[in-house]
Amino acid sequence: LSPYLSKEFLRQNDAETVIKLNANENPYGPPKSVLDSIRHFDGELFRYQGIYANNLREQLASFHGLESQMIMLGAGSSVLLQLLGHYVQQKSATLHYCSPTFNILPDTLKKAGGKPNSLPLTKDYKFDLAALKEADETPGAIYLVNPNNPTGTFYERTEMELFCKSINSKTLIILDEAYIEYAGDGQSLVGLLKQMPNLIIVRTFSKIYGMAGLRMGYLMASAAIIRQLQQLVPWPNHDLSTLSLVAAGNALQSSSFVQTTRTTNARVMQSTIKALESLGYRCSPSVANFVYFNTKGRNLRAALEGYGVQIGQLDYENQTYARVTVGKEQEMERFVQCLQKLN
Ligand code: PLP
Repeated sequence: LSPYLSKEFLRQNDAETVIKLNANENPYGPPKSVLDSIRHFDGELFRYQGIYANNLREQLASFHGLESQMIMLGAGSSVLLQLLGHYVQQKSATLHYCSPTFNILPDTLKKAGGKPNSLPLTKDYKFDLAALKEADETPGAIYLVNPNNPTGTFYERTEMELFCKSINSKTLIILDEAYIEYAGDGQSLVGLLKQMPNLIIVRTFSKIYGMAGLRMGYLMASAAIIRQLQQLVPWPNHDLSTLSLVAAGNALQSSSFVQTTRTTNARVMQSTIKALESLGYRCSPSVANFVYFNTKGRNLRAALEGYGVQIGQLDYENQTYARVTVGKEQEMERFVQCLQKLN
């Protein structure tokens, strides 16, 4: 057997011919400089990754204007969200959030015996901040996803800041910014971390940096929270890979890649939304790299699968909504052509 999965192997197994618009990956990534940093790595792979983990924490700290004690790394942000599920269980056991959203944190909390309190999104598919504020009267943590997955809806930084500051200062606020780079520069709430010791921000290299397969995410919070979280993990950083750590550090320097991806994504997304709407599908106002739209009551996921196009239609609102990731232009043209045939 080949030591790696060749393009031919992937083609034979449909991994190349199937159009994958179901996991909010960035089809343009990773940036070439990141791939080069892996190809030309000449460090010592027989050693464990500790030094590289410390180095990435330092790089992230300087990137965000924080101290490195305020950063915790994870092999993807999903594992950090799971950890937060256990942390919330210890702290408040209750978690207020809106649905549909990315469910790993509430699901983990539920399995740990806690109480996820799911509230509906607003009519325009946004997190219902007013309802969350009201829910905050019952002590519990709050989970926010901005931009939200699957709807792509978004609150500008100033509005989100006002909301976070209006919440009881004892309430833990967990803000998932997996897609924040798609919303433009300067939209993160990272600048609030030093003033708000109850805020935790979760980020990932899986989305705009196009590094989903490399598994690298991180969270930022007060040094006190990071210490408590590390108490829950026997050996922090031990699940990380040197090559992924090096790649992530390199990705932080790819600001032009981020900008180009953002612009291309926005252009392809707008033409996709236009095509969907002309076929009678109603779309959410997304700023991310996916679109949420009503299925007109059909199981589009199954129908499109027959044409070799995969979209996400989990169980959003009893299958009345689906989510399609914005792929490359040609992929979206094929997606639209298939929908036209089904219309
Ligand atoms: N947060 C949100 C909102 C997501 O949509 C995802 C993945 O789809 C993640 C976190 C987790 O991504 P990863 O584990 O690849 O960092």
